Amino acid sequence: MGSLSGRISHLSESETLKMSKLSRELNAKGFDVINLSLGEPDFPTPTHIKEAAKKAIDENYSYYTPVAGYQDLREAVCAKFKRENGLSYSPAEIIVSTGAKQSIYNAVLSIVNPGDDVILPAPYWVSYAEIVRMAEGNPVPVKTAIGNDFKITPAQLEKAITPRTRLIMFSSPCNPTGSVYSADELKDLAAVISMHPEIFVLSDEIYEHINFTGSHNSIASNDAIRGQVIIVNGVSKSFAMTGWRIGYLAGPVAVAAACEKIQGQVTSGASSISQRAALAAISSGNAPALEMRKSFLRRRDLVIRLLGEIPGMNLNIPQGAFYLFPEISSFFGKRNGNEKINNAGELCMYLLNHARVSLVAGDAFGAPEHIRFSYATSDERLTEAAARMQKALAELS
Ligand code: PMP
Ligand code: GLU
Repeated sequence: MGSLSGRISHLSESETLKMSKLSRELNAKGFDVINLSLGEPDFPTPTHIKEAAKKAIDENYSYYTPVAGYQDLREAVCAKFKRENGLSYSPAEIIVSTGAKQSIYNAVLSIVNPGDDVILPAPYWVSYAEIVRMAEGNPVPVKTAIGNDFKITPAQLEKAITPRTRLIMFSSPCNPTGSVYSADELKDLAAVISMHPEIFVLSDEIYEHINFTGSHNSIASNDAIRGQVIIVNGVSKSFAMTGWRIGYLAGPVAVAAACEKIQGQVTSGASSISQRAALAAISSGNAPALEMRKSFLRRRDLVIRLLGEIPGMNLNIPQGAFYLFPEISSFFGKRNGNEKINNAGELCMYLLNHARVSLVAGDAFGAPEHIRFSYATSDERLTEAAARMQKALAELS
């Protein structure tokens, strides 16, 4: 057999998807694994969105779609930005893709040349670093402090920018930390970015509606850097539509056109049926998202209380998304019989084998002393997971 590309040997598998696959396999073998490794709402897609998809099938939305997305969907995305974020975009600045993940990939491939640096405030979402590597860029993690709620400071950002920097990429609300930047914090970061007009910033706002602070702010609201910002968002999290695969990006026309060009050679336009469903989702208000947010907040408080009772878990209080990201290095060096825990990956495997709870090691998020715990599941399963973890961890000494 011929050899695989260097690109593929340098690429890591998505750790979130890997751990979920592993727990699915164990479940199929009859083990009762509680899968807290994949971040996705456990709610079904709201009925009116499903109805729109059924209607689209009956109305024969069966043809190739425009590469950039249906015009009415792009218009609805513009109306959403105006209504919810006070931001004016025209459809030419919007590209609809097969999930927010593809939007990020398109943007990075459009902007990053081989050897360019991309600043990633760490902890960052798993796929950022690997997407940058696929574009042959260099991920440059900038470690943030738990004491600063894992947010990058303007001084840290200024220090990290070099002539090789092309892009800064972050999410707020953040996966994995749940941190949410305030309008003032974004304004201060924007002031630094405005001094470097050659740099782009990718603002991943996919968890916009799962925010417990009462207000979502976009760095794009800072006029001085508006032409440098690319917003990524989508319907996966806000409307419980992870499997429908619709995301979108808003940015300068040149970037949007570049993304359209890439997409046109890779996947073409996103699924017709999913786009009609996304149109119904985006144009019908956020009542479902607000309802889900209530459940997520209740579950957050539940798991903070339950995990907080486990000695050795150092927790911050997330303000959005649906993850806890405890610091767990106090378990490193501990043993259960012959089994020794040396790192977060081994702790996750220990918990999978002894507690049948599936989590993700922080390494893939640029934070090797942490583990990620998704609380997007029922109160009963969360309570059971915490009890099993507590028992398994108590057996380490
Ligand atoms: N960004 C972040 C921060 C995410 O957590 C996810 C979830 N997978 C994505 C992007 C990708 O979203 P999608 O499922 O729409 O591709
Ligand atoms: N965003 C989710 C997560 O972080 C989905 C998994 C993925 O796309 O990697 O778990």
